Amino acid sequence: MNPLLEKFKSPFETAPFDSIKTEHFLPAIKEAIQLAKSDIEQIKSQPLPDFQNTIEALDHAGDKLNFISSIFFNLNAAETKEEIQVLAREISPLLTAHGNDILLDATLFDRINQVYSQKEQLHLSEEQATLLDKTYKSFVRNGAKLNEEEKLKLRGIDSELSQLSLKFGENVLEETNKYQLVVENENQLEGLPDSIKEAAAQTAEEKNLSGKWVFTLAFPSYLPFMTYAANRDLRKELFIAYNTKASKGDSLDNKQYILDMLKLKSERAKLLGYQTHADFVLEERMAKSGPAVLSFLNNLLEKAKPKAIEDVAEVEAFAKALDGIDRLEKWDFAYYSEKLKKQKYEVDDELLRPYFKLENAIEGVFTTAEKLYGLKFKENKDIPVYHPEVTAYEVNDLLGNHVAVFYADFFPRAGKRNGAWMTSYRGQKLIDGKDQRPHISIVCNFTKPTKTKPSLLTFNEVTTLFHEFGHALHGMLANGTYESLSGTSVYWDFVELPSQIFENWCYEKACLDLFAKHYETGENIPSDLIEKIKNAANFQQGYQTVRQISLGLLDMAFHSTDPNLIKDVTAFEKNQMKATSLLPEVEGTMMSTSFSHIFQGGYAAGYYSYKWAEVLDADAFELFLEKGIFDQETAQSFKENILSAGGKAHPSILYKRFRGREPKPDALLKRAGLV
Ligand SMILES: [Zn+2]
Repeated sequence: MNPLLEKFKSPFETAPFDSIKTEHFLPAIKEAIQLAKSDIEQIKSQPLPDFQNTIEALDHAGDKLNFISSIFFNLNAAETKEEIQVLAREISPLLTAHGNDILLDATLFDRINQVYSQKEQLHLSEEQATLLDKTYKSFVRNGAKLNEEEKLKLRGIDSELSQLSLKFGENVLEETNKYQLVVENENQLEGLPDSIKEAAAQTAEEKNLSGKWVFTLAFPSYLPFMTYAANRDLRKELFIAYNTKASKGDSLDNKQYILDMLKLKSERAKLLGYQTHADFVLEERMAKSGPAVLSFLNNLLEKAKPKAIEDVAEVEAFAKALDGIDRLEKWDFAYYSEKLKKQKYEVDDELLRPYFKLENAIEGVFTTAEKLYGLKFKENKDIPVYHPEVTAYEVNDLLGNHVAVFYADFFPRAGKRNGAWMTSYRGQKLIDGKDQRPHISIVCNFTKPTKTKPSLLTFNEVTTLFHEFGHALHGMLANGTYESLSGTSVYWDFVELPSQIFENWCYEKACLDLFAKHYETGENIPSDLIEKIKNAANFQQGYQTVRQISLGLLDMAFHSTDPNLIKDVTAFEKNQMKATSLLPEVEGTMMSTSFSHIFQGGYAAGYYSYKWAEVLDADAFELFLEKGIFDQETAQSFKENILSAGGKAHPSILYKRFRGREPKPDALLKRAGLV
């Protein structure tokens, strides 16, 4: 008996973690793939194709497979072990092959195409029309309309691209791992906090260099060194090592890989009928087109640059006064910024932690969700969980109707990936008119309680909690008909709106007063501390904004320029970065050869999304600020038009329904102190 293949008997049909064993996954997934295949055969065997028997049926196909693979991959991220990782390497190709079998099925596409060509006569609802478009496009964008020869070519490009991006990543990783800065004399560590020194001593020990300190190019080692180390020469050495990764002309150099990838992406785009890779990507984004993204970034740049220049001048003057630094270099910026920030705002993590006991912060997000959206959270110990540290809640509305199951998993463990994320086990949709409610989870790596102290969060951890909970609301409040349009299944540059907007409540006194109480005295967080938090959040926003824009512009330039015109990656980058450069250039250093977001991750022609989402969240939150942060009418409208709507219409339409107009950058500029 395989519990994954039975009907789940746990409350709300939640994943039966209490009876799943690792060996259940592979046979269950193989069986579920067969079930999914017979769903597809069933669709193909219907007589005349119509919306219900083809498009809607396809949305329902493979339900069991989706649920089981969600359980598996969520476990692989939050509570993995060797056997699960080995299994993942076996399961992933099975799922990819299955996905391709569907997308390359010519008979199936023929049915979809027939329905699509009658679209205007079908009298579809907005949601149905969106589903039809999305289904049709996902096939076409994967080559369904190409002839056999072109299809073969497309598959070839895809496999070459995945090889190249893998190699790109491997080179960056090898370069990262191969370098180490060994410090033998403790007085060269001046300025570094004890915890950082301790970590460096431990790294040394692991590398058989006991008694010394080792710093690496891994971010948690690199960043604190650049921020706190007083030794300027060592900062320079580490900076140069970090910024020459995979660019030294040896066997680990990524420049040729970049050129090869750009050519392939361009070729792929042309094959599918697009001018550039950026056009291909942006067709399915809220931003819609390359020119729209460029004017968005350049417009912001124009506003932020004067402030960025001031930010740099302020640090320059500070460094000169403090240490007589005549020419501020790139390896000086983080160091003097940190000192300046301390002096200006007198606020640090340790001062704030006592007000952010984890249990209070959780109460805080729950109460905020209750006040805004009428949600009630109740722990339910009958819902099975995959680790004793995980808590499961049932979520109801004010009338007692079941809304969702919510899992929360807060502390670091050996088997957990870094970072914080929201995920879902089961999506929301209607099945034969019955509402299947979602199972949503957030997974974080927060400060753990100790023997003497409860878990006291940094303010950054508090905003992370609100961020992930904002994504969770998008999932929990989903109210659609089709799973592929439900919850967080929205365009990439729109998905961070619900999460980022929710962070805004952490800066508001009316919200902090609900939960930010001293864990020993019970006193509310003092108002002047809230002011300091707000001010510190705006520190160097000009500089930071220009930095983000520069990466967004570089990304767009790579993916919208004819690759035959890019002969030399170094020169191309240099030229593109001119308009956004704020500190003296360092000969020999570059960004592109380790820009993994766009050459390894999925952010090609998408790096602008970070800023885009900020514009949306600031603009949307402005309405709450005008009407009141707990205003019922505004909350109701945000819920209806954004959180519950998922991807049932184009995000521009949904956003306009909430805001009454197109998004404007003014609120972000104001919030960041740039106007
Ligand atoms: Zn997010």
